[in-house]
Amino acid sequence: MRDEFAKIDWLKTRFELDGNDGEVVIGIGDDAAVMDFGNRPTVITVDTQVENVHFRLDLISHRDVGYRAMVAAVSDIWAMAAMPSASVVALNLPANLSDEAFQELIEGLADAARGTGARVIGGNLSRGDALSITTTVFGLPIAQPIGRDSARVGDAVYVTGTLGAAALGLAVLEAGRLDLEHGPRFAERWRKPPMNGQAARSLAKLATAAVDVSDGCLQDLGHVCAASHVGATLFAHALPLDPGYEATCQSLDVDPRELALTGGEDYELLFTAAQSTEAASFATLIGEITEGSGVRVVDERGESIEFARGGFRHFS
Ligand SMILES: [Mg+2]
Repeated sequence: MRDEFAKIDWLKTRFELDGNDGEVVIGIGDDAAVMDFGNRPTVITVDTQVENVHFRLDLISHRDVGYRAMVAAVSDIWAMAAMPSASVVALNLPANLSDEAFQELIEGLADAARGTGARVIGGNLSRGDALSITTTVFGLPIAQPIGRDSARVGDAVYVTGTLGAAALGLAVLEAGRLDLEHGPRFAERWRKPPMNGQAARSLAKLATAAVDVSDGCLQDLGHVCAASHVGATLFAHALPLDPGYEATCQSLDVDPRELALTGGEDYELLFTAAQSTEAASFATLIGEITEGSGVRVVDERGESIEFARGGFRHFS
């Protein structure tokens, strides 16, 4: 059980032993859980950002740490085709954190809470060695909650925004290359994940399955395939990339295609749907759902491409 996903599988089995009294619509293993308390379904997710695991304070301000923590958590609500309505936030604060840094963190959190609609209604403060932020978000489905397990053979695979930009931004920061022409823009993309509320509303009308791209497109699409008992083909030549992305990758000696597929923290929304101009109006078609299992990446000639890295995994 060294791997994050092996742990999640074990937890899913362990907690299923406790039974379901009918209130649980979707349990462990999706972007968020869905509970029906007898009135309307509520979507619930929790996410933790830990200093020196998810961020380094020499690369990001306290304000952006707060902003990022909230948007990253809300992203899982949007990925269920739901809109956030409230949040509770638990903070571990190191003893040497200044009042100014604390207030900056909260201002960033408040900015993102206002922007996403996930108003902060409570939380907890604790002392800790490293700064950490645990954000629990509650949301309401736009229509029906959309999970990962309902992709259908023949669906197209779409993704919002661009891929790899956040991972490239982190690479720029880690290499200390803000001097590169597009460096600051990618660094900003890593520090401030996209606000995808409108995309969530759009996909709610047409998606069969959805996930947010937090661990890398390849891995997150793999979760959809495993849950839906289907396979997928990804078109490497169709991946949406930012202007200046390939040039910046080359400056850092990074494979642009591999980074776009396996670099994490894009927080874009990936979904499956029947091919349509409506879907293409807010997302890019990057692949198709097939029979079988697993994700195959192909180039423009239809030849398979293999990658050494599979995506981000905790505990590995
Ligand atoms: Mg997710």
